[in-house]
Amino acid sequence: MEEYKGKSVFSKIAMGPIWYYHKRENMVRRHHIDNVDEEIIRFENGKNMAISQLEKIYEKAVLEVGKENAAVFDVHKMMLEDVDFLNSIKNMISEQSVNAEYAVAVVGDNFAKLFAEMEDDYMRGRAVDIKDVSERVINALQGITKDIQIKDASIIIADDLAPSETVQLEKDKIIAIVTKHGSLNSHTAILARSMNIPALIGIDIDEAWNGKNGIVDGYLGKFVINPTDKTIAEYENKLAEETNKEKLLRQLKGKENKTKSGRKIELFANIGGVSDLAAVMENDAGGIGLLRSEFLYLEASKLPSEEEQFKVYKMIAETMAAKKVIIRTLDIGADKNVDYLGLEKESNPAMGYRAIRICLDRVDIFKSQLRAIYRASAYGNILVLFPMIISINEILAIKRIVCEVKAELKATKISYKDIPIGVMIETPAAVWISEELAKEVDFFSIGTNDLTQYILAIDRQNEKLDSFYNPRHPAVLKAIRTVVENGHKNGIWVGICGELASDLGLTQTFIDMGVDELSVSPSFILPVRNEIINCD
Ligand code: PEP
Ligand code: MG
Repeated sequence: MEEYKGKSVFSKIAMGPIWYYHKRENMVRRHHIDNVDEEIIRFENGKNMAISQLEKIYEKAVLEVGKENAAVFDVHKMMLEDVDFLNSIKNMISEQSVNAEYAVAVVGDNFAKLFAEMEDDYMRGRAVDIKDVSERVINALQGITKDIQIKDASIIIADDLAPSETVQLEKDKIIAIVTKHGSLNSHTAILARSMNIPALIGIDIDEAWNGKNGIVDGYLGKFVINPTDKTIAEYENKLAEETNKEKLLRQLKGKENKTKSGRKIELFANIGGVSDLAAVMENDAGGIGLLRSEFLYLEASKLPSEEEQFKVYKMIAETMAAKKVIIRTLDIGADKNVDYLGLEKESNPAMGYRAIRICLDRVDIFKSQLRAIYRASAYGNILVLFPMIISINEILAIKRIVCEVKAELKATKISYKDIPIGVMIETPAAVWISEELAKEVDFFSIGTNDLTQYILAIDRQNEKLDSFYNPRHPAVLKAIRTVVENGHKNGIWVGICGELASDLGLTQTFIDMGVDELSVSPSFILPVRNEIINCD
C-alpha cells in the first residue's frame, strides 16, 4: 500500500480502479526515410485505421445523437478518401523522403489554411475538420487511439486536465479525479465539485498506477494506492457514514430556504450543460443561477450553431418549467479555450481577450448565441447574464445588439420574451461602478472566483498561489457588501454565483449583507439550505 498527500478540491470519498489519462500530444518530428514505398504503405495503413475508427464512431453517434448530428464523422471519412489530399501526402513522402506523420501534418496544415481563407462560411468551417482528421491519422500512425474511452467507473489520474479535456471524458465513468497540476480554483476543480466527485491536486502521478486499486479521501487530501484489506474496511465504514449524512440532508428536500427569523433566500444551482440537470433536480435547486454556456463550446469540435444552442437552452428551460434559468453568455478565453476559435496564445490570458471582449469583437458569434437564448426564452423562465463587464459602454453596446436580435426575430415572426438582463460583477471596475450599472440592468450576479483573482492580483490558475488566494479576504467581502447596497439602492436583486456562495462559514454573513440569491454547485444546495435554516 502507498499513500500520497495532495490538496483536496472536494470533500468526498471514492474507491475503485485507477485509470491513467494519456495526454493527447502528438509531437510530430521530421525524419528522413530510406524506403519511401514502405512508408507509403505505413501511411495507407494508418489512414485505413482512421477510416474504420470513423465508421464505428459514426454508427455509435447515429444511435446516440441522430443521423444529422453524426454526419460530421461521415464528412471526416470522406476527407480521408479525397484523392487530392491523399496524393499530396504521398507525393511529399516520396519526393522529400519524409516520414508519414510529418507529411500528414504539413499537408493537413496547408489544406486547413486553404479552407480557412475561403469566402464561403461552410467551407471555412471545414478547416477545423481537416485538422481533426489529420490528427486522427497521425494518432493512428503513432498507435494512439484518439477517442477517450474509460472501461469501468474509475479514479482518473493525469498530470493535468484542461476543461476541454474533462468535458470529453464520459462523466458517469469518473468517480474521482487526481492530478499533479491545476489549482483549487480552476474550472476543472469547479467541474469536479459540480459532478459531486472527490478530486485531489498536487499528487505526483505515476503511470504505473494504471489499473491498480485506489482510494481518494477528499477530507484528508489523501490518495491511497493498493490499499490493504484493513484500509478498505475502514473506508467502507467512512463511505457508509457519508451516505448516512447525505440521507439526512435529503430530508431537507422540499423545505424552504428560510432563516429562523423568516427571511427567504433564493438557492440556485450552477451548471455546465444538460448533463447536470439530473443533479439539479435531485438536489432540489430553486432554479439555475449560472449556466456556464461556454461548456457547449468546449464540448464541440466546431462553433455550435444557433440551432444547436437553441435546442439545449430550450430543453433546459422546459425541464426547469417556471423556475429561473440564468444563461451566461460565452465566457471563453483564459483557461477555457478551443482550437477552432484560433485564439492566439497570450502572456496574460486572465486579463486578455476573453468573454464579453470576444463577443463584442466577434459580433457574429455573439448574435448567434443571443438569437438562440431569445428564441428559447419563449419556452421557460430564462434570464441572460453577461460576464467580465468593466464599463457602462459595454452594457450599452450589448443592449444595442440585443435590440437588433429582437428586431430580427420579430421581423421573422419568431416568438421570444423580453427577458431580464444581468451582469456578472467579477472585476473591481464593475464593483466601483455598480451604482451606475444597477441603473442599466435587472440584476447582479457576483462572480467571486474572478473577483478574488482581480482584487487580490492573484492568478486563480496558479497552483503555487493557492495558499494566497483568499476569497474571504476583507477586501472581497467589502466589495460584495458595496455591490449589494448599490444594487438594492436601485431596486435590483443581487446574487452570488462564485464558489464562495457555498462557503457555509459565510452564509450568515451573506444573509446579514442582504444577499438575495446564492448559486452553488448542485451538491451544495442541501448543505447551504441546512445552514440557512439555522441562521438568524
Ligand atoms: C466567477 O468568476 O466567480 C464565476 C462564477 O465565473 P467562472 O468561475 O466561470 O469564471
Ligand atoms: Mg468568472
